[in-house]
Amino acid sequence: MHRDEILAWLCEGDLARLGDLWQLADRTRQHYVGGEVHLRGLVEISNHCVRWCGYCGLRAGNHSLHRYRMTDGEILACTREAVELGYGTVVLQAGEDPELTRDRIAGMVSRIKAETPLAVTLSLGEREDGDLAAWREAGADRYLLRFETSNRALYEQLHPPRTGYRPTDRTAILGALRRLGYEIGSGVMIGLPGQIYDDLADDLMCFGRLGLDMIGVGPYLRHPQTPLADRHRWPPASNVEQVPASELMTYKVMALARLVCPRANIPATTALATLNPREGHELGLVRGANVVMPNLTPPRYRALYEIYPGRAGEAETGEACCRGLDQRLRAIGRRPGRGRGDSSNYQMRRS
Ligand code: SAH
Repeated sequence: MHRDEILAWLCEGDLARLGDLWQLADRTRQHYVGGEVHLRGLVEISNHCVRWCGYCGLRAGNHSLHRYRMTDGEILACTREAVELGYGTVVLQAGEDPELTRDRIAGMVSRIKAETPLAVTLSLGEREDGDLAAWREAGADRYLLRFETSNRALYEQLHPPRTGYRPTDRTAILGALRRLGYEIGSGVMIGLPGQIYDDLADDLMCFGRLGLDMIGVGPYLRHPQTPLADRHRWPPASNVEQVPASELMTYKVMALARLVCPRANIPATTALATLNPREGHELGLVRGANVVMPNLTPPRYRALYEIYPGRAGEAETGEACCRGLDQRLRAIGRRPGRGRGDSSNYQMRRS
């Protein structure tokens, strides 16, 4: 797909024309990855973080947040729940937490792989090549690391390097992950203050260039305890190109992501469901998405993993979420996936 075409869709305001985009994305999804919706159990294992990301409530500077780190036993209990609920994958996510050492995570991954049939996805931020290699060796299957925005200046403004470290390049880390044999996932936030339509078009081109196996996108949601919160108002009229952090814009990016990377696994994200709790997941699933990530984090920790306030499903148990989900999928003519739900893009590039 040409960049001009992507840009035109991003700027399209006519809902009837957008109907064509939704249909094209839905057909492409059906053709390349089928009607199954893969369920990934999300476990947020720690909210400690050494970074100072301008958008995220877990940032080190947020002293009003009570911090937690799950024990190995608690994490394993969540993975057993994922198996009982019939999920094929568990996703371990956290802030950038140095106490989640190379050995601790490697040990955890080996145990999950030994004791369950689950695929293991890690989303632990920017880590050394040695850590990533050790975890792959231990059996980790996939790694999620959003590059957040391809606008370098905006990225560096929102994502300062660790003190004493050089600025990182997340696309380079994704390259390393790919060489290590991981399925690689990335994505961006939509409507970051200062993000313009050209940036989003570049983001989508970047998805294609990286040949992503998984793509997660969601609206930027304002967190009052972050520096970016004061910039939540759109810039004045002179800057008309600011992308809105809207539900509609999120569907556009999801649909275009499906067209750019037809074989990728694309979730309908929690951030999207936060904007539209009633039908955000469903609308995402009929506009390109084929994955949902129910939250299995124990409820007493879940509210503390506050990357942004008011997350959808905050009060729900994994079991309740699953029960509802099954019916909701059937209502849109889809069914929960069986097995691990590996990315067909990954399978193709490995064969
Ligand atoms: N420490 C890990 C995991 C971060 S949370 C990492 O940096 O990769 C996962 C994703 O949540 C982030 O990549 C970001 O895209 C998203 N996120 C963080 N803060 C957000 C906010 N305020 N609004 C919307 N999404 C946010």
